Amino acid sequence: MDLINSEAVEVAIVKGETPKETLLNGIEKLGGISKYINNGDQVFIKFNLILPSGFPTNTNFDILEILIQACNKAGAKKVYLGSFPFKGVTIKAISDILGLKKHFESLKGELAFLDNSNYFYMKGFNSKKLKVIKNRSFSRVNVNNKTFIIPKVILDSDKFISVNQVNVDPLFKCRLSLLNSYSIVPNKYQEIKNPQRHNQEYLLNDKYKQDLTSNILDVFSIKKPNLVINDLFYVLEAAGPVIYKDSNLTKTGIMVLGNDTVAVDAVTSKIMNLNIKNPDLISRAEEEGLGLADISKIKIIGENVKNIDLIIKECASKLDETKLQNFSIKTGNLCSGCFKQAYHLLNLMKTNMTKDLKYITPNNSFLIGDDPPDPNNIGKDNIILFGDCAINSTRKKEFKIIVKESKKKRKYKVNKKVLKLSGCPPDIFKCIKLLLNYYGKRDLPMLNLYSKTVASYTPEKITKKLRIWEVG
Ligand code: SF4
Repeated sequence: MDLINSEAVEVAIVKGETPKETLLNGIEKLGGISKYINNGDQVFIKFNLILPSGFPTNTNFDILEILIQACNKAGAKKVYLGSFPFKGVTIKAISDILGLKKHFESLKGELAFLDNSNYFYMKGFNSKKLKVIKNRSFSRVNVNNKTFIIPKVILDSDKFISVNQVNVDPLFKCRLSLLNSYSIVPNKYQEIKNPQRHNQEYLLNDKYKQDLTSNILDVFSIKKPNLVINDLFYVLEAAGPVIYKDSNLTKTGIMVLGNDTVAVDAVTSKIMNLNIKNPDLISRAEEEGLGLADISKIKIIGENVKNIDLIIKECASKLDETKLQNFSIKTGNLCSGCFKQAYHLLNLMKTNMTKDLKYITPNNSFLIGDDPPDPNNIGKDNIILFGDCAINSTRKKEFKIIVKESKKKRKYKVNKKVLKLSGCPPDIFKCIKLLLNYYGKRDLPMLNLYSKTVASYTPEKITKKLRIWEVG
């Protein structure tokens, strides 16, 4: 479907009592599923599949059930469902924990193991066989001088549906469908690599976010969905987009769907009172001709935009708003890379270390960004340096050395109460391991339990396999 013609852009806003009924009503308002799916089509449904924690981190499975049934009813010859999960996590691990493969099979759909993790436990793979399967599964696509690998099952599908669970997001305010589209490529291809970091210009202009936005739009341009659904029937607000202690699930009873991702996101932003310039992903997408963001030009069906005025509690915009007991957060100049990772790490600690944080002694100073303020109580506090900017810019700071005065002489000692969490930005799972090593498992039993749970579905040998298969 070519959507350059703005008259072809349609967006439905629907309200209902249950998610299933609301989605069915929305599809009906857009003219029925047969307008999108033809007899004999291969369909790929991109949904949110991030962690094995289920809904609302991932898409509501009731919605997927309706979509699979609707596609089959329209005569689809095959309905695949898939997405790349959080870094280090495999589709097989999530499927095994949530029973996804069998569930989709029972509905006559098929979970697509985009990362090939269904092969990871099979024996007898030599490099030749591995290469054959990799070539069979992936295509290399060049966009704006960047190369992405993308699963052939997505590229080869006749129809592409994107269904997105709307939750708050620390960088883009809300996780809308443009952001959902990013995980059609493996994590390795989602990472922002820039050798010219650590300079003031990079930080001041937040080049990380600029590069991330460009990457998201480059990936989106590879395969645009035919049908796009923003499911905000329930929204995870306050802390998200995954479930944290400070998250709250609020019911709006609304879904927004249509045939142009940018238009669906623009209308969703409008009813959620998000500044369209701020989730700059939408305005950039329009500038690049990837869709329509001008609400006045979009044909809107169903509820009137003017009658909906949703107030959603956004993510904390400053790291020290995430209050952690016995932790003071000291922020220097930082880009969105460290902000995003620290946001998740701090929320994860708050969620999984309630008891640990309460009884950690003494206090802790968390320093982040270029040239952060000095820690409290030097010599007594534990000092955590988060990210390469914080580590590099504090090399010569006084807190690195402790001065002990006695009557006879003055002694200088290296302050050993400093933990460096390196990276640009740091990796969250690695940070957890380093925190456990530093404080000791005895002092962090809750974090240790969480770490063991994560390790049960992200074992070392699987991390290696993800790298070998070029998807980790
Ligand atoms: S270390 Fe963090 S703040 Fe510094 S450039 Fe890298 S991601 Fe940005």
